Amino acid sequence: MATIGFIGLGNMGGPMARNLLKAGHKLKAFDLVQSSLDAARAAGAETVSSAAAAAQGVEAVITMLPAGKHVRQVYEESVLAAANTGTLLIDSSTIDVETARAVSAAATKAGHAMVDAPVSGGVGGAEAATLTFMVGGAAEAFERARPLLEKMGKTIVHAGTAGAGQAAKICNNMILGISMVAVCEGFALAEKLGLDKQKLFDISSKSSGQCWSMTSYCPVPGPVPTSPANRDYKAGFTAEMMLKDLRLAQEAAHTVGAATPMGAAAASLYTLFVNAGHKAVDFSGIMRMMRGD
Ligand code: NAD
Repeated sequence: MATIGFIGLGNMGGPMARNLLKAGHKLKAFDLVQSSLDAARAAGAETVSSAAAAAQGVEAVITMLPAGKHVRQVYEESVLAAANTGTLLIDSSTIDVETARAVSAAATKAGHAMVDAPVSGGVGGAEAATLTFMVGGAAEAFERARPLLEKMGKTIVHAGTAGAGQAAKICNNMILGISMVAVCEGFALAEKLGLDKQKLFDISSKSSGQCWSMTSYCPVPGPVPTSPANRDYKAGFTAEMMLKDLRLAQEAAHTVGAATPMGAAAASLYTLFVNAGHKAVDFSGIMRMMRGD
């Protein structure tokens, strides 16, 4: 069993850290928030007072931080210098591809092995250890990371070289944001045409309009009882998080000159929805805006 430094014990990092503890690993855990540290200690982690202390004398360091600027800061100011040469570094935060590649290059230069390993599956997946990890980095680093990721997730995919995990994450979530808006538009139009939502679901979920946003996460109450629409759009995956990922996709598209007109439209729609005060609502709650509520 390994000793692992874990930095960032929030909504996702907290339960991911607990699953590593359950699997028998030792953790040196750090977060800026005292209540998160207390929860990690109660779950069996050793808590430390800085990111550098979490990275010292461990076999692997996992970061689960809000955005690219936090990852860059924690790596540049603490992790890269504090970790023993050859330490495995795993960043599971969702961040921009450019920062992921820059941090990975700096890690390699400092003599460490690094992978970007963003996740899909949300807080429920983090708690149940059923996350999907999309991993970018050298094959050798991926093989070292895999046994640890398997304790926190169910599907572990090597997406390619450094940054490929983040690229996979934003492409997937851009498709998700676009498809959610499309499903909302379809149900809003059906309502205006007097077509029963269950009938549209019964037909479309078995026809060419079928997609995850409809069959697993239907944005109207009724057809999929587990979807957030049945609990007043309580998140789930917040509109703010979706907007973050859509913006990351737009940034990446601009960097490489890719045309993503539907992604741009989805980003604009989620900006309107978030600015209207709905940032904490589930992202499928954009149904209300599409309906004109
Ligand atoms: P969160 O805000 O709940 O947790 C982030 C944690 O990082 C906080 O506890 C914060 O105190 C800590 N932190 C910030 N700066 C720090 C620093 N310098 N040193 C130590 N700790 C620091 O966010 P989250 O929901 O856990 O998400 C984490 C990442 O996972 C994000 O990049 C997010 O986009 C991604 N993600 C989230 C979800 C989700 O459903 N919540 C799903 C997939 C991916």
